[in-house]
Amino acid sequence: VRLDDIPAWTHAGDCPEVSHYPRNQKLDGKISVYSGNITVLEVDALVNAANQTLLGGGGVDGAIHRAAGPLLKKECASLHGCQTGQAKVTCGYGLPAKYVIHTVGPIAQGGVGEAEKSALRSCYINSLRKATENNARSVAFPCISTGIYGYPPEQAVHEALTTVREYLEEHHDKLDRVIFCVFLPKDQELYLQNLPLYFPVG
Ligand code: ADP
Repeated sequence: VRLDDIPAWTHAGDCPEVSHYPRNQKLDGKISVYSGNITVLEVDALVNAANQTLLGGGGVDGAIHRAAGPLLKKECASLHGCQTGQAKVTCGYGLPAKYVIHTVGPIAQGGVGEAEKSALRSCYINSLRKATENNARSVAFPCISTGIYGYPPEQAVHEALTTVREYLEEHHDKLDRVIFCVFLPKDQELYLQNLPLYFPVG
């Protein structure tokens, strides 16, 4: 799926009464919500919700490794793992994406405290940093930690949107598009519901 074929999000409908952030026209057209498999996206960089070994796993990680082919695992094996909240970059190999940014989300099965929240924010910030360091102008994120790692999606969406909003505000000249790739209908609903609070239009 080409970037040109993924519409940028524009707010349609009633404006929410309370926005978390003021309107910023420089951010218009830079956000998309894409529903489906992240591996088909022709973006400069896609983010993988990996585990600390970086050697592949289930969920989105498994899908990315299957689609990229064995060379991805080979490069990952040379990286000596990744700490929670950090991010490491590889090539995309068989993927239409140029780079894969592997980040490790917090395990939240024991509940969400400040440590988990801050680790999840770090995943988004460090992934965006890696993207801009590599001159990637389009980045797609899955819903990090909200699958096997058990982070409640209705809390994770706020961390994702806050960090992307804040990063884009500072670096809007370096990124053309950030795509939130949602896989479950519940996540699509959460993102569409919350986008007007973080990226108000009009
Ligand atoms: P984590 O271990 O970080 O929780 P998971 O892969 O289990 O990672 O889940 C993260 C999110 O990725 C979940 O919302 C899951 O539904 C979604 N997901 C699973 N497969 C794909 C895919 N192929 N493309 C995009 N998102 C996916």
